[in-house]
Amino acid sequence: MSDDEGGGEDYLFKVVIIGDSAVGKSNLLSRYAGNEFNPHSKATIGVEFQTQSLEIDGKEVKAQIWDTAGQERFRAVTSAYYRGAVGALIVYDISRRTTFDSVGRWLDELKTHANTTMARMLVGNKCDLETIREVSVEEGKSLAEEQELFFMETSALDSTNVDKAFEIVIREIYNNVSRKAL
Ligand code: GDP
Ligand code: MG
Repeated sequence: MSDDEGGGEDYLFKVVIIGDSAVGKSNLLSRYAGNEFNPHSKATIGVEFQTQSLEIDGKEVKAQIWDTAGQERFRAVTSAYYRGAVGALIVYDISRRTTFDSVGRWLDELKTHANTTMARMLVGNKCDLETIREVSVEEGKSLAEEQELFFMETSALDSTNVDKAFEIVIREIYNNVSRKAL
């Protein structure tokens, strides 16, 4: 359930979604936080976020998930976007190799602007487009291993692995935080 009221949670984590334009970032977020797919979603300019709660170890953990909302089109994602983020999903489109080639640049941005200990997941979206696939599962996996990222292929269109991808990141953040608190 989405809940924008705020205040009652035990933990509040900021998570950012990055990646080239049109890879499906906004649809992944609305799938996870709003459970809808919008084939006509437009790249609106400005930063937007949605919150989603889940329960871990009997605690209410709320993720505030930020969407670049079109800024990425102009390579104008600001440092304010990354500020305070403890998790990131770096998304490419398995049917467009150029978006996979850009992953390194997005990882550099993270290194420049964000906390180095953040939970990071590489996401190969649009896995429903198997017939026009340009990036193999193995390529995604090996890049993720090399860069020490979690990895998952998703489809915002048919919901494959969407909840899983976000929840792995959020649980990893929770684990990082509770480990530190010991
Ligand atoms: P963003 O620019 O990264 O936020 O991408 P959007 O979420 O706006 O999606 C860009 C386009 O890709 C839209 O036309 C979506 O309908 C389409 N799209 C997004 N996710 C998927 C997916 O998992 N599968 C397919 N086939 N199309 C998708
Ligand atoms: Mg978008």
